[in-house]
Amino acid sequence: MAEKIREFFKTFLLIELLKGMAVTGRYLFARKITIQYPEEHTPQSARFRGLHALRRYPNGEERCIACKLCEAVCPALAITIESEERADGTRRTTRYDIDLNKCIFCGFCEESCPVDSIVETRILEYHGEKRSDLHYTKEMLLAVGDRYEAEIAKDRASDAQYR
Ligand code: SF4
Ligand code: SF4
Repeated sequence: MAEKIREFFKTFLLIELLKGMAVTGRYLFARKITIQYPEEHTPQSARFRGLHALRRYPNGEERCIACKLCEAVCPALAITIESEERADGTRRTTRYDIDLNKCIFCGFCEESCPVDSIVETRILEYHGEKRSDLHYTKEMLLAVGDRYEAEIAKDRASDAQYR
């Protein structure tokens, strides 16, 4: 009986409603943690693992020496490399493809690369309208590297302290 009377007064005095309003009021004036994307962005780590890029040395030479470590370590089998020896005796890729449909952005490829050639950039705003759009060729990866080299180099330098 006492329980029923307590419930009646709780209902009559709108206690539950007031409790709910108190929660709403508390968050109404709290610091906002949502952002207005895409106008606003959350902070990104220098180690962010976004779109891949192939880098060159300052003289324009490709860094990649076609050692295929990245291809071997990739758990998603997303990388395909073919290579040949050049006239000067160096080995370079003739084909370097990454199928981003398969990639799980684990970062193993960039960690395994002995010459800092394949890297993952901060770029996250890219898309494909069909599967083949996310099949990145060597030319596409080099183009990303050429375009964002300054940012990549800066990030790699700041990241070096953690390696
Ligand atoms: S990030 Fe991982 S899954 Fe993607 S290509 Fe590199 S090694 Fe493969
Ligand atoms: S990107 Fe790096 S790890 Fe991959 S084949 Fe080229 S040199 Fe080797």
